[in-house]
Amino acid sequence: MTTVRAAVCHEFGTPLTIETVDLRAPGPGEVEVTVAACAVCFSDISFMDGGWGGDLPAVYGHEASGVVSAVGAGSRYRTGDRVLITLIRSCGTCATCASGRPALCPTQPANQSPITLNENPVAHGLDTGAFAERVVVHESQIAPLPDGIPMDSAALISCGVITGMGAAINTARIRPGEIVVVIGAGGVGLNAIQGARLAGAARIFAVDTNPAKLDIAREFGATDGILATSEKPWAEVKRVAGRGADAVLVTVGAIQAYDTATRYLANGGRMVAVGMPHSGARSQWEPVIFTYTGNAMIGSNMGDTVLARDIPWITDLYLQGRLKLDELISGRWTLDQINEAIANTRSGAARRNVIVF
Ligand SMILES: [Zn+2]
Ligand SMILES: [Zn+2]
Repeated sequence: MTTVRAAVCHEFGTPLTIETVDLRAPGPGEVEVTVAACAVCFSDISFMDGGWGGDLPAVYGHEASGVVSAVGAGSRYRTGDRVLITLIRSCGTCATCASGRPALCPTQPANQSPITLNENPVAHGLDTGAFAERVVVHESQIAPLPDGIPMDSAALISCGVITGMGAAINTARIRPGEIVVVIGAGGVGLNAIQGARLAGAARIFAVDTNPAKLDIAREFGATDGILATSEKPWAEVKRVAGRGADAVLVTVGAIQAYDTATRYLANGGRMVAVGMPHSGARSQWEPVIFTYTGNAMIGSNMGDTVLARDIPWITDLYLQGRLKLDELISGRWTLDQINEAIANTRSGAARRNVIVF
């Protein structure tokens, strides 16, 4: 048992409080990681707001990196290993994991929260709880980092980067020459754009309500920017590209974006659902249009990432200078400033705010 400072949520919709909590030692199959950096993701905010339910009090934070500081029995990791920390928690042996989709593992290893406060249980938010100086997580949730990648940039890979790039490459399976639309040019959308560029898309249209974000999107590889507030934004794709999109990736949780996303598609195109509206929110589509157009709708959970397969090439692209990570960071904050960092993320102006320990 050790004590760590952590940002604790006691009530949905209220600021986090910095408190000293107890963290138990890692058991078999687990590791303790001393957190170096943890970014603020919109999923943390949705949980804090009660958008997806869950137990309280809780420690959130799941887009993190750090150094292994203790290991459970039989671990393949050693203290001192530099790793990223994700919420992808998988058994590794079920049919879903064995067929290469551990992000969808239906038999995740049981998680007895390692965090307590005055001997009362504290929920292990997103199975990670990285708004804290240390975490105890299942070994399947970490992946080694090469030397040369800064910890704050590496933290972003753990959720925003793999969710966006993975949606483009693993889920949408974008091919060279395709026309791609990415709705939302935030932390996930910019990485979907990078993924589409790496996959060889001929045209990449970024769609956002904020013109400044469209300029940033171009820096990350978008060929065109469309204001979501224009009258028929989908018409711009057909005007420029001569036809509709082969893939549209919705990277925001706004229902209006989901309701209109398929309008961008060419016949035979696919819509990929990446952004996560709150539980209970509903979209409407006309089924007959799917039949008539042959369009598809696919969900992408954590970019269908396989850590052992995808982290080595993603980090190597960064080291080669072919992937932007540092440029995704728009602010660095201490743990004590976390509520300011969250407020800045809520404002919609940020790329990624990172808590640096
Ligand atoms: Zn996230
Ligand atoms: Zn599994």
